Amino acid sequence: MGNDNHEIYDEFPYSRDHVLKNFERYSSNELRFYSRKRNFELGSPHKDVSKLSPYLRRRLLSENEVLKVALREHTPSSLEKFIQEIFWRTYWRGWLERRPNVYQDYINSKNEADFAGKTGIKCFDHWTEELIETGYLHNHARMWYASIWIFTLRKSWFSGANFFKDHLLDWCPASNTLGWRWVAGLQTRGKIYSAKADNIKLFTNNRFFPKGELNESPVFDDDIWKTYESASDISYENRTFPTYEDLGLVINKNDLTLNHYLSEKQIKFEGCIFHDPEYQHSKSASVRKFECGLIDQLCLELKNFHFCQSKKALTDWAKSKKLKCLIFPFETVGNKYFMDNSFISELRSRDIEPIFYMRDWDRYAFPHASKGFFPFKKNISDLLAQNKII
Ligand SMILES: Cc1cc2nc3c(=O)[nH]c(=O)nc-3n(C[C@H](O)[C@H](O)[C@H](O)COP(=O)(O)OP(=O)(O)OC[C@H]3O[C@@H](n4cnc5c(N)ncnc54)[C@H](O)[C@@H]3O)c2cc1C
Repeated sequence: MGNDNHEIYDEFPYSRDHVLKNFERYSSNELRFYSRKRNFELGSPHKDVSKLSPYLRRRLLSENEVLKVALREHTPSSLEKFIQEIFWRTYWRGWLERRPNVYQDYINSKNEADFAGKTGIKCFDHWTEELIETGYLHNHARMWYASIWIFTLRKSWFSGANFFKDHLLDWCPASNTLGWRWVAGLQTRGKIYSAKADNIKLFTNNRFFPKGELNESPVFDDDIWKTYESASDISYENRTFPTYEDLGLVINKNDLTLNHYLSEKQIKFEGCIFHDPEYQHSKSASVRKFECGLIDQLCLELKNFHFCQSKKALTDWAKSKKLKCLIFPFETVGNKYFMDNSFISELRSRDIEPIFYMRDWDRYAFPHASKGFFPFKKNISDLLAQNKII
């Protein structure tokens, strides 16, 4: 699993220290301009945005620690926009948690061709190449791209979501599915996002101007609208653990630093890094390489941790350590792997109790994600206080 893809490595390093240093530098030098510059898509290396998403998604850095670093040098009011963006992903995850059928319907949708190929629309073809090569697209480019895919090329939103799923280093079931649905007008009925040539010209600083090439007056097809009921209030219990020596912790791509969190709470555990190379969301070699790079690096750093690649190996390890309880990162909609009845029964048949641990960050925020982002964001300062960030 060595690293021979230097371009991706340079832009998206594998080591947590390196990522943290990059963000500290970004916070000192660029973050103050975030709200003014974040919508400009000036091409790689995209220095006006943080490029933290591949790490936040896997919690190699947590939302909590990113905001603490940012607020060392800035006031909460000067960072209002950045803080809100950090909470957007939390909001999408909480929203989807109440409506798992939205994700299930996407997964069940027809698996049609998912690659646009060359279209002759220069900006679009450029972003296709950039996404395939680097695994990253700027947020504004994702919005334009999804809009062109759906309304100019007249392809389905879910085939576009599949294409992103295959290639994004930061693929997140909630942000991707709901991002595509938002552009398609399916989050707020009929409110579609229409990419316009003038807007692309302005925010790419004249690099692209697809005048006359886009469908700039798309019409929402109301027949595709479907109402999803939201599950009634969900509250997530506060789990506490006994600090016995028979506790095991599994870290995987749902949370690569849950060990820090438990250590801070002075909970003792045996640790395991888990990575099943057969179970990947992506067909892209770059994404696979990135994930392997992160895991290789963690294995180097966490010398006391065991490494497992299959559920069977994990159960055998837990048994050999005489563990009575295994803690896993909580698995939200689209991220289920261990939260599976047959695996849970298998563990219990061997006297091992699984605990799916939700971080306070999610536990506090998810109950507020029942409606739109506007009512959700009114809770942000309370959430910052609850998380002891301010
Ligand atoms: C069609 C579409 C698909 C998307 N798919 C994904 C995805 O699979 N995974 C993913 O993490 N984001 C997704 N996004 C959201 C957003 O584009 C990325 O989070 C952002 O571009 C990541 O770049 P950054 O870290 O430099 O962002 P920054 O601007 O530096 O923002 C900091 C962090 O805030 C969060 N964030 C910022 N904007 C958004 C947003 N609009 N929605 C949710 N969270 C946000 C991310 O965690 C991000 O890392 C999608 C957006 C669209 C329109």
